Amino acid sequence: MFDSLQERLGSILNNLTGRGALSDADVAAALREVRRALIEADVALEVVRLFTDRVREKAVGAAVVKSIKPGQMVVKIVHDELVSILGETSETIDLNAPAPVVVMYVGLQGSGKTTTTGKIARRLTDRQNKKVLMASLDTRRPAAQEQLRQLGEQVKVATLPVVAGQSPVEIARRAVQAGRLGGYDVVMLDTAGRTHIDEPLMAEMAEIKQAANPHEILLVADALTGQDAVNLARNFNDRVGLTGIVLTRMDGDGRGGAALSVRAVTGKPIKMIGTGEKMDALEEFHPKRIADRILGMGDIVSLVERAAETIDAEKAAAMAKKMQAGQFDLNDLADQLRQMQKMGGLGSIMGMMPGMNKMQDQMAAAGLDDRMFGQQLAIIGSMTKAERKNPDILKHSRKKRIAAGSGTDAAAINKLLKMHRQMADMMKAMGGKGKGGSMMRGLM
Ligand code: GDP
Repeated sequence: MFDSLQERLGSILNNLTGRGALSDADVAAALREVRRALIEADVALEVVRLFTDRVREKAVGAAVVKSIKPGQMVVKIVHDELVSILGETSETIDLNAPAPVVVMYVGLQGSGKTTTTGKIARRLTDRQNKKVLMASLDTRRPAAQEQLRQLGEQVKVATLPVVAGQSPVEIARRAVQAGRLGGYDVVMLDTAGRTHIDEPLMAEMAEIKQAANPHEILLVADALTGQDAVNLARNFNDRVGLTGIVLTRMDGDGRGGAALSVRAVTGKPIKMIGTGEKMDALEEFHPKRIADRILGMGDIVSLVERAAETIDAEKAAAMAKKMQAGQFDLNDLADQLRQMQKMGGLGSIMGMMPGMNKMQDQMAAAGLDDRMFGQQLAIIGSMTKAERKNPDILKHSRKKRIAAGSGTDAAAINKLLKMHRQMADMMKAMGGKGKGGSMMRGLM
């Protein structure tokens, strides 16, 4: 699974992780190669674009984490974006509905519909102790209903007795009724396929859907067909409406184009993957595990995750120490403002911290509210290093320069300085009582 894609991405990213420093040009060059690798893996163009745009954006804005090489950071970003396009959380077949829950399988001929129906029925029977009834609605292929009956015997799952001459819709109705009367938990409808999508097929699926009111409509698609599988999913979703996708023949798919595209293109989750012809060759789809498999760089990803946690803790401890010593300067204030912006504004942060109401009042009095973050950061950004370290040197001429640089005025600068002074005093007082650490953790 994903072998060829893994090889390509692996060598591109390996080139990056070895180096101590990365220029923007290095990252851009690597991203161009990633882009090419994804296109060769038959990933949908719109997904390739979305993916590389997001990685680029994050790589540019990424915080520098001590003890982590920039290339390792890029690996982590690529990993997280892979997870994001694969669907973030793993979703599986939903049986939360009054019994019998109807699960309908749709797709082209030969995609693995009947096999998948048997695999999933067996899984629900064995692992979740469900009573399952399977029915073949394929009246076109003479052997189809017989094939499902034999499969049922093999996996020890009941099948609906065949009645000659019934239409697919009639069989569907009879299956649901038999499910109800027989006390089944789940009724599975294996519909007929065609060699390609056509209007009669779609009309038949819509009719069956209406008659059987399925809780799940799963498209079974052959992963080896790449972008054709994605287009198929789009078509079925538009016309019949899908609740999820099962990709079969993942065991033979070295490229991974369908798996990487179908969620982003249709918005529908991959719920299961088929990994072989045997009845137990079926897996749940876990985006994170799949991303790990594609990149083959699990250790780097967890290394960066751990480092990011430490860095936050290190930063918080350093900040607490500074506060206690009364050294909370304007650089620190800017840090805090950025963090607050990131965390969704003042109210949400202050609300989380006991005893912070008073500080919030002070900040409000000083004119600091969420809308002002940008302005405050602009003011601090227009100061020199020395001014940020030691705001006391800010006299009239310096303020004039800063006002011009930040598009504000002296009054705005004075407000910011007053607020900083009050915060610094207050933090010092709180720090003296040994509360600095916990407060900063709240602020960070
Ligand atoms: P249907 O026409 O959609 O019902 O397709 P079938 O269920 O009859 O499957 C067609 C062929 O694909 C059979 O030979 C299956 O054994 C094979 N098949 C189904 N799923 C998988 C899979 O996940 N991996 C592999 N390698 N073969 C599969």
